[in-house]
Amino acid sequence: RSGYVAIVGRPNVGKSTLLNNLVGQKVSITSKKSQTTRHRIHGIFTDAQSQFIFVDTPGFQTQYTNRLHSTMNRAVIQSMRDVDVVILVIEALRFDDRDKLVVKLLPAMDRPDKPVILVVNKVDRLADKSRLLPFLEKMAKEYAFAAIIPVSAEKGTQLADLIRTVRSYL
Ligand code: GDP
Ligand code: MG
Repeated sequence: RSGYVAIVGRPNVGKSTLLNNLVGQKVSITSKKSQTTRHRIHGIFTDAQSQFIFVDTPGFQTQYTNRLHSTMNRAVIQSMRDVDVVILVIEALRFDDRDKLVVKLLPAMDRPDKPVILVVNKVDRLADKSRLLPFLEKMAKEYAFAAIIPVSAEKGTQLADLIRTVRSYL
């Protein structure tokens, strides 16, 4: 199976770390412009069963202090239009107003044909792991995510689970 995947989220949640760790030592390319697709390709994950092509999104800006920000957000929305799966990254136990805004701006949230997988990152930082499950349950209750997966992008924890989940939607 193969398909296009966008990784979105506010700055600092760990999008680049996740991408680097997913793509890892495997075949990876970075190119500013691809001649073969409409997308700017950021990396490719390949294994025996699948190939995911991660597309570069410019990153959501969460302050509307100037017009440039909303122009940039339109560019993000545009780049998500043709992907098969969207991965939204947040930090464990920290779902703040900026993250809420990002969710609100995701057109895919209203589209049953475009799964949004919520990745709850940085779980390695949690001193009290018992707080994670209620947090995941709350997110599941409030939003219609296709799946919710706690990970540590840095340590590589649960990334196999994430890959399986993405694959299931391709
Ligand atoms: P981006 O702005 O969303 O691309 O975020 P980055 O990938 O640049 O990460 C932002 C910061 O969070 C960096 O200092 C990373 O080292 C750190 N970080 C990313 N993933 C993890 C994680 O799983 N655990 C911990 N503890 N830190 C992480
Ligand atoms: Mg980044």
